[in-house]
Amino acid sequence: MSIKANQLEAILEELRVNQPDAMDHLRVFAEDHPNRPDAWAHYAWNLFYRGYGEETYKASKRLIRLTPKNADALQLHSRACFRIGLVKEGSRSLQRAAAVASEPFPYRIEWIETCLREGKPFSALSQYLRLRMQWIRGWRFPRGLGRGILIHAILTMFAKLLLLSSVRDAVFGRLYAYYVQKKRWNRAYILVRCAVGKPDLHSVWPERIADALYHKRDFFSPAFEEEITWRAVALRKGTPHAIERYARANLHAGYSTVAVKILDQNPPQTFAGMETYAHALAACGRYDEAETFYAKLGENDPIHFANAGIACLFAKEYLRAQMHFDDALRMNPSHPIAAFLQRAADLHMRKEPFDARQLDAILRDLSKKHGWRDRISQFRENWEPETERLLQTNRYRIVACPLCSSPRFQPTYLDPVPKWVRGRCEDCGFLFANPQPLPETLGDLYMNEESQGSALQRFFRKSLNELLSQSPEEVGKLFEIKERFWTPEFSLPSFEAERGKDRGMLDIGCSVGTNLYQYHCRGWRTCGIDLDGNAVAVAQSHGLDARVATIEDADFPVQSFDLILMMDVIEHVPDPLSVLRKLHGLLKPGGILKVKNPCAESVIHYHYGPQWISSDTHLIHFSRHHLTDTFERFGFEIIATRSYLEANKIAHTYDGWRRLSVTPLFDPLVVNLDVGDTITVLGRKR
Ligand SMILES: [Zn+2]
Ligand SMILES: [Zn+2]
Repeated sequence: MSIKANQLEAILEELRVNQPDAMDHLRVFAEDHPNRPDAWAHYAWNLFYRGYGEETYKASKRLIRLTPKNADALQLHSRACFRIGLVKEGSRSLQRAAAVASEPFPYRIEWIETCLREGKPFSALSQYLRLRMQWIRGWRFPRGLGRGILIHAILTMFAKLLLLSSVRDAVFGRLYAYYVQKKRWNRAYILVRCAVGKPDLHSVWPERIADALYHKRDFFSPAFEEEITWRAVALRKGTPHAIERYARANLHAGYSTVAVKILDQNPPQTFAGMETYAHALAACGRYDEAETFYAKLGENDPIHFANAGIACLFAKEYLRAQMHFDDALRMNPSHPIAAFLQRAADLHMRKEPFDARQLDAILRDLSKKHGWRDRISQFRENWEPETERLLQTNRYRIVACPLCSSPRFQPTYLDPVPKWVRGRCEDCGFLFANPQPLPETLGDLYMNEESQGSALQRFFRKSLNELLSQSPEEVGKLFEIKERFWTPEFSLPSFEAERGKDRGMLDIGCSVGTNLYQYHCRGWRTCGIDLDGNAVAVAQSHGLDARVATIEDADFPVQSFDLILMMDVIEHVPDPLSVLRKLHGLLKPGGILKVKNPCAESVIHYHYGPQWISSDTHLIHFSRHHLTDTFERFGFEIIATRSYLEANKIAHTYDGWRRLSVTPLFDPLVVNLDVGDTITVLGRKR
């Protein structure tokens, strides 16, 4: 099976005709409103994320004519240019974005990274040095960028000295193999970039680029570069392997319709290719075909029988779903996803009403029956030496259960990142790390998290900048829609009306102040605390009241807030009860506390085991019933609980979770059943 260049173009062309209505509507809307920048911005960004090169280019050109001084529009235009190979125009547009932006730093970083990608390490170096000499408050350079540029420059010179490409390929190929063996993907990536200069499609290097890129990807890096590279390889080489990789890159980047089209025309030959096809078919709603493929793959891996069952649930074929779950359980009698969904499908079939609490109870039942909580049994034997090792550093201590103070602890597994023991309280079943770091050493742990912290912070800053570019009225109006959590019976506007004009909110872990700003735009008095001084400085620079403080030492008057948010914070706290007691005191009567945290009682947790949201700063994990019970104990009335899926979405960006073996349908299913691995609880102070 091979593919010719024009054939692939034809596929992409055909895809343009078959796009979902939404894209068409966007286009028509933009054309009907030729002078509305927001219409063109939506249309252009959507084109970009769906993988269109030429169209994005045209739409973004239109957009920057309407808003010549909007940095985001210029940035989009530059990305569209790079995608279709207009390097010069793209560079100009990106430089212009940096010139007009109120915060030029991220655009200049992108410019430096572009220089590296285009094989111009010396331009990158001079840009980098110039940026280094200016002091810009609050911004951090991506980790290792300076060193990366230097290595780029040296290797590029070295590659130029090796005049013969065969010699260069041999020398660099050896080095590449060395880095791959050591799993140093960043180095491997830089190396291949320098080896090819501009991608040489006849050599093996484009495949190596794609491999290195795939492995080095971090939390928020865009996948489109991988897609472009593989597109080039597939066009040029047309081998089944290249085509399947191209399809998979598209699936990863979220272009499942493109992936399906490619594999419709070129039936997959390998296991990975068939897996990609099945996932893409499922994501496009072609459940019957997805089921057939998954069922074929199931003999090799029971997860695919479970996937076939999930596809049947979506097609409302409950009997067939049961059959596939049975097949999965025949291969692995304690398969968490199959065992759980079999019970859920059974309830569905018998049309029994059920709620999330009931499903949680089913999960607890199953986990006891199958021993999911302690399935890593060989770990038991080295639990004591591991604990001993930690205690000997004098930075850890044995703790009692943070919820019920019981000293009886059942170790469950060793968290692979911090090498901590996680386990459950034998009396109340609460999941926590034990031994835990001494409170005074917790600060050091956060320093270690810096690399992820800065990626997250860049993400938060970008969304804050987007908000700042709109009018406060718009931001406030939009927030009402975005804030999914407030139920129809209990909406944000109705709560605001109830609390009157002088209403105050506190955001614990406020970072750069994205939440603060949105509540501010709706007329709230806002205040935030965070441990990250850089983030707090950004919030303050926009006039927001943010402080560097912990909950324990923040001195707010009692009963001073109507709403307190604590999103992804409580799992980092060694003593959750004293924190909740303090927050209860800070709320006015009738005030709301909103807490979000990774949920320990979830099917995805049992599926991934120790790798689930592994982190060296997570000390405790509430599950739904632990959190609601604790809320009630402090005198909160539970208004609502909601869960959604977090781990699976980021699964393919972490080592060990690399293979996207769970169908994309799993996300919506779990959200609909409300058994996700992240839970939010809204409680009202009585
Ligand atoms: Zn306990
Ligand atoms: Zn966390």
